[in-house]
Amino acid sequence: MNERLEACKKALEKNHFTVRTFETKEEALEAFLADVAVDETVGFGGSITTRELGIPEALMARGSAVYSHWENTGLTKPEALFKAMTSDVYVCSANAITSAGEIINIDGTGNRLAALCYGHKRVYIIAGVNKLAGSTEEAMLRIKNVACPMNTQRLKKATPCAAVGHCMNCDSPDRICNGTLILNRKMGGQEYIVYLVNEKLGY
Ligand code: SF4
Repeated sequence: MNERLEACKKALEKNHFTVRTFETKEEALEAFLADVAVDETVGFGGSITTRELGIPEALMARGSAVYSHWENTGLTKPEALFKAMTSDVYVCSANAITSAGEIINIDGTGNRLAALCYGHKRVYIIAGVNKLAGSTEEAMLRIKNVACPMNTQRLKKATPCAAVGHCMNCDSPDRICNGTLILNRKMGGQEYIVYLVNEKLGY
């Protein structure tokens, strides 16, 4: 196992997150499907990582209820966002995890940040090795200058970062980074399971 991943696991555990490590995304998917009961409802945040694992399709194929605004679940986008807020299980990725075991996410809408804090039996945060950062400052630089430009390009947003590939701290109506959540420690009313995968996943 990657030394950085092991160090990150220890740091997260010190902050009272439950952590599991995996060599491949296939192993992580298998563990997730074993962890989550068929009759538990599963809400999703916007996350390339969880789609690279194939989690929504696998859940739907076995008959689990999925609340997602990316997949065709028969729900409108507002319905899917709302139901995901109170699903039994919530799953998303992290924009970055620091060497101090802090989990950082930035949102444009706020659904993912709100869902990460409270309201589920379990929250799963799945992150590839590319999401590991050193300090909080390094993590923010990575998010603003790597993750955000890739996301704005993918979403075809009219933001400066989509055009130039780095953050210009814009006032664009299309801005995707309106709020930042740093989980310094496990939130008191929420259980978290972090899956660290020794592969590059998402942005
Ligand atoms: S503030 Fe604007 S330019 Fe900077 S990352 Fe966010 S959307 Fe892109």
